[in-house]
Amino acid sequence: MLIDSHAHLTDEKFNENRFDIISSLSKNNVEKVFCVAYNKKSIKEVFELSQKFENIYAIIGIHPEEVDDFDDETIQLIKEYSKNSKVIGIGEIGLDYHFRKDNIQKQKQIFVEQIKLAYELQLPISIHNRESTGDLLKILEENKQFLTYGGVLHCFSESVEVYNIIKKFGLKIAFGGTLTFKNNVTATKVCEIANLDDILIETDCPYLTPVPFRGQTNEPKNVSLVAQKIGEIKKLSYDTIVSKTTQNALNLFTKASLNGN
Ligand SMILES: [Zn+2]
Repeated sequence: MLIDSHAHLTDEKFNENRFDIISSLSKNNVEKVFCVAYNKKSIKEVFELSQKFENIYAIIGIHPEEVDDFDDETIQLIKEYSKNSKVIGIGEIGLDYHFRKDNIQKQKQIFVEQIKLAYELQLPISIHNRESTGDLLKILEENKQFLTYGGVLHCFSESVEVYNIIKKFGLKIAFGGTLTFKNNVTATKVCEIANLDDILIETDCPYLTPVPFRGQTNEPKNVSLVAQKIGEIKKLSYDTIVSKTTQNALNLFTKASLNGN
């Protein structure tokens, strides 16, 4: 069965059908969904969702667009929640220079603080990167001693060269719906050459809906379309991609394999 390794089921777009989506996961061959937080409010929501549903796991942290939410209270909250077996990682953390460049220093500082926090809590990280690759690689290089518990560059859209660099840090990559977009030459190339052991799959729902459902709200079940696309690109069977990517997600987010079934 599939794992959606990066979803935002706490998003208000799911207010009407969140329960229906979660209760139909296994029917849609989705075994587990890793729900990712981005600000203080969503840390609480993601945690609560993971306590309510067996197949929902929590990845908690502050997104680079929400760095003003990173304070002592947030750190305490993350530390406290991390003791829970359903909290499996720190994320999404990273850099995003697309919307804001005025707070780059703060973004970098809080990214580093969260990398160290994850290390202290012995948890893997889920990394967000948008238009900030140079600085991201520099920070990872400078802090590689804190990457012991691994991590994943979510919605990977960088070059083969960048993949080869982050591979040296022991990090993994995750493909989402964008891999299915028609002219995504870069991601296709990375997918082609990447070691299957390095690949996780995700939806990043409600965003980035894969072909042929673009324009609709994305859902965890669409992770199957990403698996299918990887199979086409790598000329491997759908079943191979499903079982490998599920194993990869559990190998990285090890606490998710200790719970439930
Ligand atoms: Zn996300």
